[in-house]
Amino acid sequence: MDLSRLRSLCQALGGGLVEMTEEEFDRTFMVGSQKEPVGLTHAPFTDRNLGVDWEGKRVLYSTRWGVHWPDLIHEMAHIFASVVSPAKSDEWSFFGWEYAMCLYLGGDLGVWKEAQQSYLPPTKVALKAFGSLSSEQQQAILDERLAAAKAAGLVAEDGTPLAIR
Ligand SMILES: [Zn+2]
Repeated sequence: MDLSRLRSLCQALGGGLVEMTEEEFDRTFMVGSQKEPVGLTHAPFTDRNLGVDWEGKRVLYSTRWGVHWPDLIHEMAHIFASVVSPAKSDEWSFFGWEYAMCLYLGGDLGVWKEAQQSYLPPTKVALKAFGSLSSEQQQAILDERLAAAKAAGLVAEDGTPLAIR
């Protein structure tokens, strides 16, 4: 996936995708202190690599370890497909948006699904992580989530992911 494509898409949706050096990222997110800077959310599990400026609608990443495009799509979903900040967000509500974005960008679906291995659907949907489900079960979830995202106005009828804020 060409990151410049994601970058121009973020801009077209009214936000941004910002690459930082390790030093800039650590300074921006106050890595090493117990606090988080106001308005910025350091994405969990990314090991000082990825974060969100939700108010400013920017995804921020460092060049520390390299960045994986499905993770960027996830952070974009927090910004463009959720009206509440990351800490309060319902990630299930925009899983279909992420899927739609992968399709829209022509991303490798196998790679994207691989990145969702440890994703936990609500227990009423599945009792196992996404990656432990059969491909039929996975597809049923993706179809349902895409339909829900369309019904909620997050994705256009033609499959184009939209910005709702
Ligand atoms: Zn998240």
